[in-house]
Amino acid sequence: MTGIETKCIHEGWKPKQGEARQLPIYQSTTFKYDSSDAMGKLFDLEADGYFYTRLQNPTNDAVAAKICAMEGGVAAMLTSSGQAANFYAVFNICEAGDHFIASSSIYGGTYNLFGVTMKKMGIECTFVDQELPEEELEKYFRPNTKAVFGETITNPTVSVFDFEKFARLAHSHGVPLIVDNTFATPVNCRPFEWGADIVTHSTTKYMDGHAVGVGGCIVDSGNFDWMKYAEKYPGLTTPDESYHGITYAERFGKGAYITKATAQLMRDLGSVQSPQNAFYLNLGLESLPLRMERHCQNALAVAKFLQAQEKVAWVHYAGLESDPYYALAQKYMPKGTCGVLSFGIKGGREASIRFMDQLKFASIVTHVADAKTCLLHPASHTHRQMTDEQLAEAGVAPDLIRLSVGIENVDDLIADLKQALDKVTVVE
Ligand code: PLP
Repeated sequence: MTGIETKCIHEGWKPKQGEARQLPIYQSTTFKYDSSDAMGKLFDLEADGYFYTRLQNPTNDAVAAKICAMEGGVAAMLTSSGQAANFYAVFNICEAGDHFIASSSIYGGTYNLFGVTMKKMGIECTFVDQELPEEELEKYFRPNTKAVFGETITNPTVSVFDFEKFARLAHSHGVPLIVDNTFATPVNCRPFEWGADIVTHSTTKYMDGHAVGVGGCIVDSGNFDWMKYAEKYPGLTTPDESYHGITYAERFGKGAYITKATAQLMRDLGSVQSPQNAFYLNLGLESLPLRMERHCQNALAVAKFLQAQEKVAWVHYAGLESDPYYALAQKYMPKGTCGVLSFGIKGGREASIRFMDQLKFASIVTHVADAKTCLLHPASHTHRQMTDEQLAEAGVAPDLIRLSVGIENVDDLIADLKQALDKVTVVE
């Protein structure tokens, strides 16, 4: 199977003779064995099989396998949320005393997780301006730096990540590049082809696509050689006494990273996705390529409309030829970026808020990236915990409206935006 549309339908669950055509929901916490020995082998990771859904479940594994195939990875796991995915992705290779580097433009929730919560665990994150030249970025690496993290398209500033620049930097320092590919999805961007080593997702967004289930996913490319940098990653390259002395990188090769995250982190921290949600996610994945195409078409038309409006101060959408990220988007995402764009209304924060309140069917929600058009004002909502200084560092202007363009008829969308703009009096 080569086409992503085909993978979205046929990868993952592959029914055998007489089995259910659609992915079954294994709504069971546990799995039965005929002998104590048979089950013991599973605990020793000597045999494959399911024993407890907190570690693995067939429904979840089928969906993870589908996402893995879509990204072109070697192993993947589902998590209960995108937050859990990003936490596990870093915590799987960083421990107290370690350091990692992240773009300062990432989603506010991830920024908080890295900058506040993980700091309390003794793991330090340095946030960097992702537009800095390589020689400037070099200066942030330390002997205890263990990873570099970015987002393909940042939420909410919709900047495009320069994969090749960051992959070069990460690899020259012997650390993996982790990329959150939530907004682009593997339909529009395949980070492994540009040097990323590990990809994460908030599947809550386009992958689910209908705003029904919170979830996450981690995919490993299998390309990072943990053994080559064995002294940096003892969790993968020395025996895990909590798991019968297994050395993951020796025993599982390219599957080591996901096996450790499952056997150790999921066992101890338990951020498991429910099989029911995995089933919904699988339905969403089946139509993802169709939806992404429409999201991108609609978003480009909306961005062009907004750009032409007198009352609109600015618009960011990497599909616009005038956008500073147009060239990077063409390189990494020639089919389109996503349906999310950002803009501001002349008159600043107050005018942007008044405009939003006038919309008829584009709804104000925290969510982003699903079939229904929705929007939010990050400075008042998702990023309200940030100081003005942090907002500026993250590139979030006080008037920034994040508009997530859905798959409705684009004429209806534009009519809604137009009637709301007509009602706003701009005081410059
Ligand atoms: N990553 C990105 C890019 C996001 O936009 C979000 C949520 O908005 C997350 C991660 C966190 O995902 P979740 O809400 O599923 O925990």
